[in-house]
Amino acid sequence: MNASSSTRQKMVIAVDGPSGSGKSSVSREAAKRLGFNFLDTGAMYRMMTLFLSKNNIQAETEINDILDRCEFNFDISINPDEIRFQINGEDVSKTIRLEEISNKVSYYAAIQEIRNHLVKLQRKLIDNSSKSIVIEGRDIGSVVVPNADLKIFITATEEIRAQRRAKELNSVVEKVLNDQKIRDEKDSNRKISPLLKPQDCIELDTSKLSFEDSVRKFIEIVENV
Ligand code: C5P
Repeated sequence: MNASSSTRQKMVIAVDGPSGSGKSSVSREAAKRLGFNFLDTGAMYRMMTLFLSKNNIQAETEINDILDRCEFNFDISINPDEIRFQINGEDVSKTIRLEEISNKVSYYAAIQEIRNHLVKLQRKLIDNSSKSIVIEGRDIGSVVVPNADLKIFITATEEIRAQRRAKELNSVVEKVLNDQKIRDEKDSNRKISPLLKPQDCIELDTSKLSFEDSVRKFIEIVENV
């Protein structure tokens, strides 16, 4: 780490990018090796989607009432155990990754009340983090922490992203590619907080990099701030 980053008390690193770019896995592993905290904001939108769809709530007017009635627990420390996600005490870490949730999440993520609620929560978690933190999502560098110490945009070609996700989900590449296109379209073109590449970011293209090389490259970028 150079002089400026090693003497900085707490670094906030904003990571954005499309699904399947390696954004979550690479930044999580890099945060772990750096000894930083880690916040997966996609999981927060997934939890919200699970909760609201399970309770059959779609109308925006009903959302505010219900948001005050549920308790979401996020563990931002990545060591020593796996991060667990809970809604009102129930562990939903696995359920939120189901395809059914992936296909519904963009709908809920485009609702202003939900974004306001989650962004407020994200900023609180960042402020309360006792150490440096990596936070990843779609609007982190643009909306959540526009003054982050470092912004990294992780990307990869559409085909590579679909191949990786198909392997992860044990699914067919063509189907994943199709679902991914729909989700990317919605995430990039919604009116509120669309996925965009912040102007002041460093781009990390993982298309031709192995997981290990991507993590190394990420750490190298952090160490050179
Ligand atoms: O990163 P992940 O694929 O888990 O995110 C799931 C969905 O949550 C995204 O497709 C997007 O609709 C939404 N999201 C968002 N803003 C974030 C993080 C995720 O809109 N900061």
